[in-house]
Parts: sequence; C-alpha cells; structure tokens
Amino acid sequence: MRNPQLNKHGELQHLLTLDGLPREVIIGILDHAAPFTEVAEREVKKLPLLRGKSIFNLFFENSTRTRTTFEIAAKRLSADVVNLNVSTSSTAKGESLLDTIDNLCAMHADMFVVRHSASGAPVLIAQHLQATGRDHIHVVNAGDGRHAHPTQGLLDMYTIRHYKRDFTQLSIAIVGDILHSRVARSQIAALTTLGVPDLRVVAPKTLLPTAIENLGVRTFTDMREGLRGVDVVMMLRLQNERMTGALLPTPQEYYKVWGLTPEKLALAKPDAIVMHPGPLNRGIEIDSAVADGTQSVILPQVTFGIAVRMAVMSMLAGQ
Ligand code: ASP
Repeated sequence: MRNPQLNKHGELQHLLTLDGLPREVIIGILDHAAPFTEVAEREVKKLPLLRGKSIFNLFFENSTRTRTTFEIAAKRLSADVVNLNVSTSSTAKGESLLDTIDNLCAMHADMFVVRHSASGAPVLIAQHLQATGRDHIHVVNAGDGRHAHPTQGLLDMYTIRHYKRDFTQLSIAIVGDILHSRVARSQIAALTTLGVPDLRVVAPKTLLPTAIENLGVRTFTDMREGLRGVDVVMMLRLQNERMTGALLPTPQEYYKVWGLTPEKLALAKPDAIVMHPGPLNRGIEIDSAVADGTQSVILPQVTFGIAVRMAVMSMLAGQ
C-alpha cells in the first residue's frame, strides 16, 4: 500500500508522521535542508521558492520555537504567512476544526501548518482535503497530542548527522517522559529507519509506554546504566500538561534520579552530544551546567530547525 503522505510519484504530499517514511525520503529532506543553513548567513535572507503561496500557521496549542521557526522558514522562502491566533479566533466561538479549514481554503490556502493537542488532528485535515478534492493543499503536522512531531524528529536527525555523521555506528539514549512524548515517537521512528544499532529509551517505569520494545528500542529504568557509553543523549521535558494522575514524586526528587547532571553525563562517551527539543525545565530534567555546557547542541538544534522546515515546505509546495 502507498504511504498516504506520498503522492503517486513517490513525492511528499503531506508531512504527518515519520512512521513508515522511507529512508530515502528522510535522507532527501536532510540533504535538501543543508544549503538552506547558508541562507541565514546572507545579508538578504530570502529565496523565491514559495513566492505567491499562502501558508496558514494554525496553532491550537502553545508553542514558541516551532511556531516562530515555521514562520521564519516560510518568510525566508518568500511565502505569505498568516498566523491564526486560535484563542481569539472563531474556534473560541465554537466553530469546528473542519469548518475553520473550509473557510481558509476559500481564501486559497496552499498549506496548513497544524499544532493540536488532539492526536490525529492533522491527519483528519489531510483526509478532509483529500475527500473534498483539494489535493493541491498540503498539511504539515507541527505536533499533535502524544502522536508525532515530524519536523522536530527531522531537525534532530539533521543535528545528529551534522555532529556524528554515520547513524549506523551510534549508541543513542532518549531520556525522560517517553510516555507522553510525541517527540520521542518521531525520534524513534526516524532513528530506527536510519539504522541506529543501539537505541535506548531511559525512563522511570511509570513514564514508559507498554510494549515500547516492539518499536526496536532497549529500555532502561536506571539512568546511569542507560547513559553508559552513548554518543548522543536526547533529553525530554516532563509533559505535565498531558499527565493524568500522580506518575511521579516531586520535581526535586525527579531531578535527583532523572536530571542530567555533569556527573551523570560523564558516563556517556567523552564526546557525546546533549540534545533537548525545548522548552527546557532547568533543575528538573536537566542541570544548567549541562544545558549551557560544551557538549550541549540545544541551540544549534533550533537553528537547524529553520533549514529543515524550509526543506519540508519547499519540497511540498515549492516551484
Ligand atoms: N516542543 C516540543 C513539543 O512540542 C517538546 C515539548 O514541548 O516538550 O512536543
């Protein structure tokens, strides 16, 4: 069966998830992103690839990095970008998601960038567009519930390839709130497709989804064991907004056992890099000495994120 994100020529139609996305498509996006990193160094930071295209940023859930980097990426490609402020829009007056979409289609939208707290919202929009014969409009998932955050996963892959080159030689640990993390799901999908031989998820038992081993990872419930000898440490934020019930002791106790301190990081390889998708909770999942330390690549992740989002948007809708 054809991957629903690809059109009949095998090109990207939507970017909804990294699950099942072929290796050559992932590598193609990373390769496409590389020259865009140089656009930011120019005096005129613009290319005409999306000139005349209308892109709607629909963020039904909060975001700083993702929303602004999508916006700046679209602007650097010369698109017209509209940021819908959902809290003051018709959604707040009770309009349904698909009615909002239909109205924006009537304004000749070319692309929707969608963040939603409900898993599946971007897929629903893509299916609606297809069912109503509007196949020329593209959807990019900018994070839905616990499900997926594909551009975050891709910018993470770009960052790892930049510092470590060959995925097939790496030991990588994803640490923290795996259970509620769409970022972890997208990272696992991409890292397994790219052939990482030693992929670990490291978390307290209450924050590990059941049967996660089926995704091709090894689980560790002891952080020190999980970090031993890895090349890359990918930290996650505690998703308090998605937690129901008491899964954890106090933040202070979480930090004691699960916070990434210089002393714990010393168990990884000496040249290991430390990543975090942001927003950081200093003193909870990560110590400031690590977040601001020499092994941290957290801010380069943000910069690479712009190039990766430019690559995705221009591959979907570029001339
Ligand atoms: N910014 C990421 C996301 O939207 C990670 C996080 O919020 O912790 O999922």
